[in-house]
Amino acid sequence: MTRELTGFPPAQIKRLIVKVGSALLVAKDGSVRRDWLASLVAELAARRAAGQQIVVVSSGSIALGARRLGLPKGGRATLEDAQAAAAVGQIALSQVWADLLGDHNIAAAQMLVTLGDLEDRRRYLNASATLERLIGLGVVPVVNENDSVATEEIRFGDNDRLAARIGQAARADAVVLLSDIDGLYTANPHSDPEAQLVPQVEKIDGKILAMASAESASGMGSGGMVSKLQAAQIATGAGAHLAITSGRVEAPLAHWQESGRGTLFLASAKRGARKDWLAGRLTVKGQLVVDAGAATALRQGRSLLPAGITATNGRYARGDVIDITGPDGAVIARGLAQYDSQDAERIIGKRSEDVAALLGGTPRAAIVHRDHMVLL
Ligand code: GLU
Repeated sequence: MTRELTGFPPAQIKRLIVKVGSALLVAKDGSVRRDWLASLVAELAARRAAGQQIVVVSSGSIALGARRLGLPKGGRATLEDAQAAAAVGQIALSQVWADLLGDHNIAAAQMLVTLGDLEDRRRYLNASATLERLIGLGVVPVVNENDSVATEEIRFGDNDRLAARIGQAARADAVVLLSDIDGLYTANPHSDPEAQLVPQVEKIDGKILAMASAESASGMGSGGMVSKLQAAQIATGAGAHLAITSGRVEAPLAHWQESGRGTLFLASAKRGARKDWLAGRLTVKGQLVVDAGAATALRQGRSLLPAGITATNGRYARGDVIDITGPDGAVIARGLAQYDSQDAERIIGKRSEDVAALLGGTPRAAIVHRDHMVLL
């Protein structure tokens, strides 16, 4: 893999997801920043003409709708307000994208998805197939969360992680988050004058995670640096680069290529599509806590046996996704449970040969098999 990717995103990147934040699309007075958007669309059209495939993830429906409905707090005072604002704003948002892409003879396709659509494996594959077909037809998909039906529990809530998940579903090579900030800083740049921009990240470790501050600079969108780092973890884990750069300038992609200002998180090696989906999931049904010996065995690529488990939390059914955490509480792996939580409760800590007597029949040896597990 190339360790130096200057002038990002370079032309050799075949499939690119471009996420546009609310503060870039919608002016403080609630109007669409059409001139800026036209400058971005011109860049996208040029890249497409050069053979790059583009998927847009666009925020802005809540901010736009709130303005049109005269709702307080940018439409985010209550969930009902946000849902109503999104319903009104999304029509306008799609229209703007369709118009501007249409000016370059590119057809736009609207795709609205909920968290559930991408967390459920069958629906995820469905969304993935639709994206593939649209791209194959030469269309530019414009994706947003289906905010008017998503409730608090089933929401992404921010389009950063949505963009990373879409990147995964579309098997993209890179995801670019155009934001009101130009990248990851060593500390919060709004409060710490010593804060420095980090140009490239090879591994998202504790030191990198500690740099994020939870606040979004504009107060208009909902994604702060924390959600951007989570997005970077999802995307890079799925073998795609993720970049954060400023959208506060005209033609932002060219601006980054020329100025080099942004943060690039380099992709890690590919794990395989099914394991990527598992790792990128945002919700799990339960958790198994393991002892130090089992933690080591898991890291060596073994399956999880009942004997090494010290506790089970949550209610899950066979086939549900659960996290496996070490004695220190850190998540080690994620996988599909081979037992429901009631049976798991009865067999944890037991040796495999005793499990048959406890449950009857010929049980499965592992609680989570290594083929259905991904190390995190
Ligand atoms: N889906 C939200 C919208 O279109 C934006 C979420 C975010 O701010 O990232 O308004």
